[in-house]
Amino acid sequence: MKAIFFTQHGGNEVLQYGNRPDPVAGPGEVRVAMRAAALNHLDVFVRNGIPNVPLPQIPGADGAGVVDAIGEGVTGVAVGDRVLLQPGLFCGVCEFCRAGEQSTCVSYKMLGEHAAGTFAERVVVPARNVFPIPAGLSFEQAAAFPLAYQTAWRMVVGRAAVRAGESVLIHGVGGGVAWAALEIAVLAGARVVATTSDEAKAARAREAGAELVVNYRTEDVAQVIRRHTAKRGVDVVVDMVGEATWTTSVRAAAKGGRIVTCGATSGPHPIEDIRLIFWKQLSILGSTMANDHEFRALYAAVAAGRLRPRVDQVFPLSQAARAYARMESGEQHGKIVLVPDGVAPDGPDGD
Ligand SMILES: [Zn+2]
Repeated sequence: MKAIFFTQHGGNEVLQYGNRPDPVAGPGEVRVAMRAAALNHLDVFVRNGIPNVPLPQIPGADGAGVVDAIGEGVTGVAVGDRVLLQPGLFCGVCEFCRAGEQSTCVSYKMLGEHAAGTFAERVVVPARNVFPIPAGLSFEQAAAFPLAYQTAWRMVVGRAAVRAGESVLIHGVGGGVAWAALEIAVLAGARVVATTSDEAKAARAREAGAELVVNYRTEDVAQVIRRHTAKRGVDVVVDMVGEATWTTSVRAAAKGGRIVTCGATSGPHPIEDIRLIFWKQLSILGSTMANDHEFRALYAAVAAGRLRPRVDQVFPLSQAARAYARMESGEQHGKIVLVPDGVAPDGPDGD
């Protein structure tokens, strides 16, 4: 089969388009003929080089397609089913999986990082990792939401437990997870303050329901929030930027506030003033992907049309390097999607 793969880490020059062995569905597994795969920042990190990535590696966590082979003992999935992939792989038997916390599984793995990913014509996954594509969603849209929206769902709903009427600060809403967090927080009835330095993204955030958008390049975000909330601060901060925003997050949080983090795109070592954490009695919450219950709740919200995954641009699989370049430019709004060469894109671009 054709796939994107790399044999060493580096920039887009390490991405190769060529033949890889066709994967075979083992017991409990299904094989999916990919119709669309979507990029995440994770794919850039994996390409650049992070520990425990087996080489050669086929990247790609998000994807959707048609089941084309079924392993022994699989029930409830048939050849020809239109499915999307849940990219988090878990063992199902460890203490955490048994407690329903699959994303803390002791052997948690990601498609495209620890296992062959979706930037290929075919992918094999455990049968429990495929879900029927909700009616009305194209392959591109179905590929566009699993990773980013489940990450945001667990942050906002699972970990921070945002309630209607609470105030939530979300940094850098141009990013996929932050944008998903904005939509999910609005859906939860929260009052959202978003930050971005881009006017077009600010306008979209307001349109999506943010009550205040702050330009982090020209304004002191914590000070603006202090004014906006009569010195109180926000109940919840969603922070995946890390080093560049952490001090602002701690300053902007109300007493008793919760700060939830799932990433550190600007770096992992912020200046930390522990005095502010205990004096303000803050809760710092870590979050990664989502458990099965949260993924199903998200899936139901998408199926009901309450969240609309958005597609930015579609590229042929062989042009993956161009797709990565667009991802790294930060200009996209919505998901950048790859479609196998020779396969016609499926449908609406989300607009
Ligand atoms: Zn487990």
